[in-house]
Amino acid sequence: MSDYSKYIWYNNKIINWDEANTHVMSHVIHYGSGVFEGIKCYNTQKGPAVFRLNSHIKRLFESANIYNIKIPYSKEELMHGCINIIQKNELSDCYIRPIAFYGYDTLGVNPKNCPVNVAIASFFWGAYLGEKGLNDGVRVCISPWEKFSYKAIPAIAKACGQYMNSMLSVNYAKENGYDEGLLLDSRGYVAEGSGQNIFIVKSGTVYTNDENSSILLGITRQTIIELCLELDIPIVIKDITCDDLFDSDEIFFTGTASEVTPVISIDDKEINNGKVGEITSRLKSLYMNIVLGKSEPHLSWLTFIK
Ligand code: PMP
Repeated sequence: MSDYSKYIWYNNKIINWDEANTHVMSHVIHYGSGVFEGIKCYNTQKGPAVFRLNSHIKRLFESANIYNIKIPYSKEELMHGCINIIQKNELSDCYIRPIAFYGYDTLGVNPKNCPVNVAIASFFWGAYLGEKGLNDGVRVCISPWEKFSYKAIPAIAKACGQYMNSMLSVNYAKENGYDEGLLLDSRGYVAEGSGQNIFIVKSGTVYTNDENSSILLGITRQTIIELCLELDIPIVIKDITCDDLFDSDEIFFTGTASEVTPVISIDDKEINNGKVGEITSRLKSLYMNIVLGKSEPHLSWLTFIK
C-alpha cells in the first residue's frame, strides 16, 4: 500500500502516507459517513494540469451540504491542497482523492460532535476499466441489484456509504465474467454503471439520462453534453429503457477515472457488432485532447499546477 505515494494532505498538513490513519471507531467506518471526489491530473505539454478542479471541489461541498457535513476548510484551501499534494508527491499523471469524513467521537448514528476530517491523496492510477477496455470497449451486464432510489439516498451526492450499492453491482459483474455492471433504477429505467454515467447513440443522436434515474451527475457527463452541443451532435436527455440500450448503435460510459469508455456488449448482446462506434471515437478523442491540454478553446477547464 505504501508504494501508492509518499505523502498525503491530512487536515491541512502534509504527512507521510503511512501515517494518515483514523481510529477504527470513527463514525465513517461504521456508517460510511463521508463524502469524496475523484479528480484527474494529466501530463500536458505545459506541465501537469488538473481537469475541472473547480467543478469537483464544488461538488464535494454540495455532497457535504446534503449530508450536513461541515467541511472545516474553504473551497480555495482544498483546491490548494490538491495542487500541493500533487507537487509534493512529484506526480504529473495522477488521480486525486479528496475525502471529508466523520471521525472519532460517538458511535450513535447521529454524528453529534464527531470531528470532520479531510484528507487529499494523490497517486498514479491507470485506466480504471483497463487499457484494453478503454481502447476496445468493455462488456457489461445488467446488474440484478437495483440502483438505490434518490428518494432513499441522495444519488446526486458522492458519499462513501452509497458505494456499497456500486460494489454489489461490480462484484456481480466480475464474478460472472463481465467488465462492469449496469444498474437499473427503481422504475426499471437504466441508471448508471458502478462508477460511470452512460450514453447511447441512435441514428446520429446521443442520449443520456438525468437525476430522475437516481444517477450521480457526472462532471464527465456534463463535459460530453457540452461537447455534443459544440460539435452540433444532437443530444437528448431522457429516461433510457432497456429497449433503447439493445436497439442502440453505440454505447459508452463516462467518468473521471473511466474517461470515455466504449461499451461493446450488454448481457452478451453485441452493440455495433462489438466494435467501437464512430461518434464514441470522436467524442473520446476530443475529450482526451482536452484533458491533455491540446485543445486551445478548452484550456479554461485545466488548472496548471506549475
Ligand atoms: N456515477 C458514479 C456512481 C460515479 O461514482 C462516478 C465517478 N465519480 C460517475 C458516475 C462519473 O462521475 P464523474 O464524471 O464526475 O467522475
